[in-house]
Amino acid sequence: NQVQVAIDGPSGTGKSSVSKLAAKEHGWGYLDTGAMYRALTWWCLDQGIDLTDQQAVAEAGRTFDLRMGTDPSAPSVAVGERRIDAEIREPALTEQVAAVATNLEVRANMRDRQRALMEQLAQETGGVVAEGRDITTVVAPDAQVRILMTASEQARLARRSKELSSTVEATRAQIVDRDKADSTVSQFMTAADGVRLVDTSDLTFEQSLAAVLQIVQE
Ligand code: C5P
Repeated sequence: NQVQVAIDGPSGTGKSSVSKLAAKEHGWGYLDTGAMYRALTWWCLDQGIDLTDQQAVAEAGRTFDLRMGTDPSAPSVAVGERRIDAEIREPALTEQVAAVATNLEVRANMRDRQRALMEQLAQETGGVVAEGRDITTVVAPDAQVRILMTASEQARLARRSKELSSTVEATRAQIVDRDKADSTVSQFMTAADGVRLVDTSDLTFEQSLAAVLQIVQE
């Protein structure tokens, strides 16, 4: 009896930390799909591929040797043998991911990769928690558990600026612009039909985790 859990939402909702711990709690695999888009962005920049060249980026997306480490206690990302865990979190890279993530050919390829990985992890560990922007709607619309984590813009900005140790204003420019670009290709600001909503605006991290674990258990 394999369980697929899909969790979507914008940044600053606690989505990543909650997804990892929920996977860990059950001994399941964990898939960070945002890291996959980040990895392709890193690869294109490393290879000198112009991010506005849609065809070249799509081709790179089809052929690059992406290796996702899916242990929720120690997730990792590599292209070939090269680990890029720190590189893909750089603010300069983060700003450029949208150019890659809005490429529809890239999205179709990532969707296939993500479905295959979710299937494999569910088989190997009995379950999987995959998080992103389009997992509940596009990648795994048939997952047994589908959750959208949201939070007020104020709460998300406060959390994110703490994480990035930057001011709320600097964070606003990063997050609000990114959400806007992302919303043009994925629906993650409002819950799709059948998707459970967890609003973490007034929840502590522990309460957010408990809310998600409760839904998984039902
Ligand atoms: O979640 P994270 O901040 O790592 O995601 C980085 C970027 O990857 C997002 O801003 C979005 O552009 C893209 N993304 C996406 N679809 C997903 C996950 C991430 O388009 N399922």
